[in-house]
Amino acid sequence: MSTAANLAHRDPNCLFCKIIAGQIPSTKVYEDDEIFAFHDIHPWAPVHFLMVPKLHLPSLAQVDDTHATLLGRMMVLAPRLAMAQGCLPYPDGGFRVVTNTGKGGGQEVHHLHIHVMGGPRPWLRG
Ligand code: 5GP
Ligand code: ZN
Repeated sequence: MSTAANLAHRDPNCLFCKIIAGQIPSTKVYEDDEIFAFHDIHPWAPVHFLMVPKLHLPSLAQVDDTHATLLGRMMVLAPRLAMAQGCLPYPDGGFRVVTNTGKGGGQEVHHLHIHVMGGPRPWLRG
């Protein structure tokens, strides 16, 4: 998807769209044409970052077949970024991948995101 198309799919009121656009500062972990990753502001674990599509999608509940490649890319990228950020190797180490969806799922920011958490235990939560 082109950058122009991504920009057209931003929600001006969305916190994570503002972070992607650089309007709100964040500690960037990774960026490409479709995906942005940054440190969670309230980490639960020694490594805790969020991966978001640049395309504004409110949650996993809104995805369809047209998003399969994008979501696949995010899942394939997650372990590489996890290791680069200091998660310990599988199987003794590892990491947790979480996507809270909707109020019932504990979602607070309504721009689809994947939490990636790991590093030496104990963790604050999880
Ligand atoms: P959710 O509960 O929606 O799955 O997770 C939202 C996450 O976004 C939370 O873990 C929260 O700490 C993080 N978060 C909320 N506001 C900000 C912010 O302004 N900057 C960053 N980096 N993370 C944020
Ligand atoms: Zn957004």
